[in-house]
Amino acid sequence: MAGKYKVPRGTFDILPTESYKWQFITEKFRQVTKLFNYREIVTPIFESSEIFERSVGEDSDIVEKEMYKFEDKKGRSLALRPEGTAPVVRSFIENGLNLQPNASKLYYLGPMFRYDRPQKGRYRQFYQYGVENISSNDPFVDSEVISLAYLFLKNLGIADFELQINSIGCSNCTKDYDAVLNRYFTPFLSDLCSDCRKRLVKNPKRVLDCKVKTCKKIAAKAPSMLDYLDKNCNEHFSQVQDNLKLMDIPFVINPKIVRGLDYYSQTAFEFVVTSLGAQNTLIGGGRYDGLSEQLGGKQMPGVGFAGGFERLIQSMENEKLSFGGEQIPSIYLVALGNKARVYSLKLLMELRRNGISVDIDFDKISMNSQMKAANRSKADFALILGAEELTTQSIICKDLKNGEQEKINLKEVVNYLRIR
Ligand code: AMP
Repeated sequence: MAGKYKVPRGTFDILPTESYKWQFITEKFRQVTKLFNYREIVTPIFESSEIFERSVGEDSDIVEKEMYKFEDKKGRSLALRPEGTAPVVRSFIENGLNLQPNASKLYYLGPMFRYDRPQKGRYRQFYQYGVENISSNDPFVDSEVISLAYLFLKNLGIADFELQINSIGCSNCTKDYDAVLNRYFTPFLSDLCSDCRKRLVKNPKRVLDCKVKTCKKIAAKAPSMLDYLDKNCNEHFSQVQDNLKLMDIPFVINPKIVRGLDYYSQTAFEFVVTSLGAQNTLIGGGRYDGLSEQLGGKQMPGVGFAGGFERLIQSMENEKLSFGGEQIPSIYLVALGNKARVYSLKLLMELRRNGISVDIDFDKISMNSQMKAANRSKADFALILGAEELTTQSIICKDLKNGEQEKINLKEVVNYLRIR
């Protein structure tokens, strides 16, 4: 029955047979954010494009190549949000959340948009969960944010992941390091991809992050950022490591993590899953002490992370983990004959008013077809109402697991089901 239209390339429908997985993850994420007393913030799906250009960086891949940018009818330049941090910080500044109690610990959920080449684990519309803590540059906060992501993955039962951390220093360390990288990469200039040749001029650290094979090979032997951290950044990084050890959170140091966005400083981290193939980063995050200023606010340090639902679901499926089961009704109502069909509306409403989930198929008439539908629904019980039951004001309750059935008083049905 394939119709004429298809979803846009790089997007997908979340079908009713899959949506419970998304709901399960959402619920688990909300649970863990509650444990840490983070509260939800919801920002619009589109923002002024400048917000991303000024923060993520004009020459970052996200802004330069991947942003869905458009003009509205009044000629305002807008963009579908490619990521969640800049909008959250925009809202934080705009609403003066720094002056409000309990407003510095935030989480968000929702779709992001990037015009990239679609492949497994990479879509043009994808869904992220993320947290931001905008308050402090204490390394304790970095560690707490990492521990939230860690606990989330653990609570889902994921075993096959590795936490990788790095420090990319501050602007003070970067000045020296950029010069060192320039000197290192310049002899290889003709072997680097065209993007990396540009990156070398604008932001040499990005070459370390390139996924092109030859660039990767050259970058493997590049000098490490960690040898160029100043005293303050070094201490910050050691403290984060000590804290993680104290919390029993295993990690490895990966000096190649730079993160693709301009606004990061000091701590950068990723949760990586080996079984996911090329797109193997489940969660990425880090510290962004300069972001608020870049967006015209006052200096406000922050740290956060974001992860994608799609890769999380894929890795949970790879590990054969449970998503808590599909949605099934408790009761399936079978109504035989016209009078019972009419009465069924009243009964359905009564059950639902009392918080009992119940389904019916009004298109099916015969006992046989309705019972088949009841069994397919996986409901616990079928309630069977026919003309005879109506005259005696009774109803049959059939346990669909063991086939046992009982006739009960129609007036008593809610109480009876509550007890069962
Ligand atoms: P980023 O904002 O690039 O640091 O990405 C954070 C996380 O979002 C990644 O680790 C992925 O789990 C997910 N993600 C990023 N881009 C995509 C995409 N195009 N398709 C699916 N998931 C993505």
